[in-house]
Amino acid sequence: MRNLPDKTVERLSQYRRSLNNQLEKGKTHIFSHEIASLLHITPVQVRRDIMLIGYSGTLRKGYDIKEMVELIGKIIDTSDGQKIAVIGLGNLGKAFIHYLQEKKSKLDIVAAFDINPDKINKSYSDVFCYHFDQIEEVVAAQGIRIGIITTPPEVVTDIAKRLKQAGIKGILNYTPKPLNEQEGVYLEEYDMITSLEKVAYFVKIQD
Ligand code: NAD
Repeated sequence: MRNLPDKTVERLSQYRRSLNNQLEKGKTHIFSHEIASLLHITPVQVRRDIMLIGYSGTLRKGYDIKEMVELIGKIIDTSDGQKIAVIGLGNLGKAFIHYLQEKKSKLDIVAAFDINPDKINKSYSDVFCYHFDQIEEVVAAQGIRIGIITTPPEVVTDIAKRLKQAGIKGILNYTPKPLNEQEGVYLEEYDMITSLEKVAYFVKIQD
C-alpha cells in the first residue's frame, strides 16, 4: 500500500479506538455515518479514509467492525510491535510509561533516559532508566526505533540530533520548542497549549 496521508493515519487510530468500544458493547456492524458521529467528522471523510485502505462494507449492514479493526491493525501496527524510549523521566515521561503500559498496545516503552543521578540506573514501572550518554549503545542493543522527548525545551535540539545519530526513526516531541525536520526521521510535535487555545477560541465565540 502507498503511503497514507498523516491525517488519515491519525484518524485510523481514532477509528480503531471507537470501533473497539463498539465491539465491547456487542455491536458487530457499523455505518460510516455512525463512525462519523462518534468522531465528530463527516461521513464523506470516513468513507474516503476507508476507501484509501481498500475496505468496503455492505450497503445493508455497513462495515464489519471486527474485520475493520483487524485491517487497521495490519496497516498501522508492525507484527512484533515497535520499541520506544522516553527521554526525560519527569512528570510527563512517567505519565507516558504508565499510560502505554495500561493500554497493552503494540507500542512498547523499553527504556528511559535521563541525566539526573537520582533517576538513572534504576527502574520505573519496570522500565530501566539509563544515563542519556548511553543512548547509542542501548538503542542499538534493544532495537529501539521511536523516541519520546519529555525533557526541558532548552536541550531538545541536541537530544533530537543524538537520537538520529543513534538510529531512531521517529520522534514525538512534547516540549514546547519546535524541532527542525531531520532527514530519515519522522517528526511529530504536540503542544498542549495549541489544543487548549483551540478550545478557548470555540468557547469564546459561543459567548
Ligand atoms: P520535569 O522537569 O518533570 O522532567 C524533565 C526531565 O528531563 C527531568 O527528569 C530531567 O532530569 C530530564 N532532563 C533534563 N535534561 C536532560 C537531558 N539533557 N537528557 C535527558 N534528560 C534530561 O518536566 P515535565 O513536567 O515532565 O515536562 C517535560 C517537558 O514536557 C517540558 O518541556 C514541558 O514544557 C513539556 N510539557 C509538560 C507537560 C506536563 O503536563 N507536565 C505538559 C505539556 C508539555
